[in-house]
Amino acid sequence: MALIVQKYGGTSVGSAERILAVAERVKRWRDQGNQVVVVLSAMSGETDRLIGLARQIQERPEPRELDVLMSTGEQVTIALLSMALSARGCPARSYTGAQVHILTDSAHNKARIRDIDAARVKADLDAGRVVVVAGFQGIDELGDITTLGRGGSDTSAVAIAAALKADECQIYTDVDGVYTTDPRVEPKARKLARITFEEMLEMASLGSKVLQIRSVEFAGKYKVPLRVLSSFGEGEGTLITFEEDAVEDAKIAGIAFSRDEAKLTVLGVPDQPGVAHQILGPIADANIEVDMIIQNIAAQEALTDFTFTVHRNDYARALEILEASAKQLGARQVLGDLHIVKISLVGVGMRSHAGIASRMFSALAQEGINIRMISTSEIKISVVVDEKYLELGVRTLHEAFGLDQASTA
Ligand code: ADP
Ligand code: ASP
Ligand code: MG
Repeated sequence: MALIVQKYGGTSVGSAERILAVAERVKRWRDQGNQVVVVLSAMSGETDRLIGLARQIQERPEPRELDVLMSTGEQVTIALLSMALSARGCPARSYTGAQVHILTDSAHNKARIRDIDAARVKADLDAGRVVVVAGFQGIDELGDITTLGRGGSDTSAVAIAAALKADECQIYTDVDGVYTTDPRVEPKARKLARITFEEMLEMASLGSKVLQIRSVEFAGKYKVPLRVLSSFGEGEGTLITFEEDAVEDAKIAGIAFSRDEAKLTVLGVPDQPGVAHQILGPIADANIEVDMIIQNIAAQEALTDFTFTVHRNDYARALEILEASAKQLGARQVLGDLHIVKISLVGVGMRSHAGIASRMFSALAQEGINIRMISTSEIKISVVVDEKYLELGVRTLHEAFGLDQASTA
């Protein structure tokens, strides 16, 4: 007998019919003698709908109230699935995050899980019930409802799997695994049987929304066996593995991309000690995360240009702050660009192979795609390009690195 945590995403519970199909699958796993905990998202589109409603009331709703509102989506699906299971002779109970004590910090809209009291869930499992838990939500020390950030149900599932020491955490979604890149952008993308935990972490942090980054972090920290699979078909899906050797000998695992980028530039700042701090300090103080940074070498006049990227949601605030610091610095001009994207190659095999970057740059050049910024680490290379080149850039690199073929050269 195994203890399995299964998470079903929004599309997988998007209608009554689909919830009935999920019930059938859950029942099958239980009938085979497994203990099953199910974590659910809200119906697809529901969280967006709720946020939209809030915005009709107030432009920037209070994060606490937004959490009270957003968390309702998941309460609907857990109750419906529980009913569907009971109707099939499979005893089940649904619980909100608060009911199973998913304790988080108080950072509303992006809370982090601190602790889960698994006793209640275990008691139900031991009594032969399927336990259905609302994803995406928790409760803080004050008893207030919190949510875990968009896509947070993945993290709920992995955290519950860690707390229960589950044998496997299965993430059921609308694709049948993790692909070499988003199959919606490159139809030739290939499903990976395995991906290393490190690569998955990098892909998620660079924009692949198939798993929320925090869920991968959690899986790494507590060594939770994690699998991504389809809720619409059968198959083994993709296993996130901790063994690098078990992965095919490819230099590149996949291509991630992010449309959530924005670029800010200050032109003509004095090239002297402390300038980077004067520019980025106030940005950091406003809790805005900076991703890539470039400072040009001062040519004449001992003036330099300074460019950095932030999340698109932070653009307006970052621009405001930057304009104030630019004035203080006596800079010439501040420029902003919302029409950029970031494309990244990811692979642990990069460590031992030279020439990946030049191959990447040459492939992009051949398509006339101008690279605006570059950043590298041991297992990734990212470039910032104009938004209009996103699809072309991803497909070009997918082809250039032979990712549609089973073993990359
Ligand atoms: P869910 O609602 O089930 O959580 P998501 O929309 O959050 O589903 O995640 C699944 C989607 O992630 C897929 O439909 C796909 O478009 C996208 N995606 C992005 N990158 C990848 C990738 N490398 N492999 C598979 N899917 C990806
Ligand atoms: N319903 C939440 C969202 O849309 C959480 C999730 O689906 O994982 O972001
Ligand atoms: Mg998701």
